[in-house]
Amino acid sequence: MLKAIHVALTLSVITLTVMTAPSAFAAPLKVVASFSVIADFAKNVGRDRVEITTIVGPNGDAHVYEPKPADAVAMAGADVVLVNGLHFEGFLQRLVEASATQAAVVELTKGVTPIEFKPEFAEEDAHEQGHEGHGSLDPHAFQSVANAKIYVRNIADAFCAADSDGCVGYQTNADAYIKKLDALDGEVRAAIASIPENKRVVITSHDAFGYFEHAYGLTFLAPQGISTDAEPSAADVAKLISQVKQDRAAAIFVENITNPKLIEQIAAETGIKVGGTLYSDSLSPADGPASTYIDMMRNNIAQIKGAILGS
Ligand code: ZN
Repeated sequence: MLKAIHVALTLSVITLTVMTAPSAFAAPLKVVASFSVIADFAKNVGRDRVEITTIVGPNGDAHVYEPKPADAVAMAGADVVLVNGLHFEGFLQRLVEASATQAAVVELTKGVTPIEFKPEFAEEDAHEQGHEGHGSLDPHAFQSVANAKIYVRNIADAFCAADSDGCVGYQTNADAYIKKLDALDGEVRAAIASIPENKRVVITSHDAFGYFEHAYGLTFLAPQGISTDAEPSAADVAKLISQVKQDRAAAIFVENITNPKLIEQIAAETGIKVGGTLYSDSLSPADGPASTYIDMMRNNIAQIKGAILGS
């Protein structure tokens, strides 16, 4: 009996010590980001108060990524898990379940107006597959800078919920970064405005740029549809090639996350030279041209302008 009371007292002393610990947040907030773009946003909001683990790293493809045991360990130990949502991360549900994480899993597309995916070339395939696994909403919302700002606000709110002592700092960092994003949005608009309207058609491998198209008025044609988890059929590719010959697409690009073979085939059959690499669903490694979100958008508009205007 006495022993039990002693244990109870000791426990309450420990609890008290934890509760009255100095308010400075000693350990960094442990954040898991599902892919590299989100990790970059989180870094800008959290700075040195957060420790970020990225699941799908530079040049990785979140549509088809296979989680590793280390990912489940990181998820299990996380304070906050940041994800895109809209079925962008094909692996997410399995990983959340396998890790049994207690952390809040925050979908950063919350508050974004989603756009419907309208398959142009993979229509029959999409019907056959019933859009299994990826739904009919386009998940690549981060390709519009206005949406990137929504992601950043959601990250600041998620960090505030998990670490209220750091909240003022997170909101201040988010405000500063959003100012940079506003400037970036202006750069993208100016770049597209410099391209004659009849030349604003480009080809990429998969449909990652629907929100870019919607926000900035450049048309993207893609043989592979919204996800990279299925190969386009020969008929889809033939259909795209005949449309390209009719519509005179101005430029064609490979993507950092997809196999360039298909794009090279289309380039050869249409006589359009491959314009370069667009970063679609992930950043480049640190020494590459798109190691941050801002650099990714700048790289993409420079590549598009360069290929179309020949500068
Ligand atoms: Zn994608």
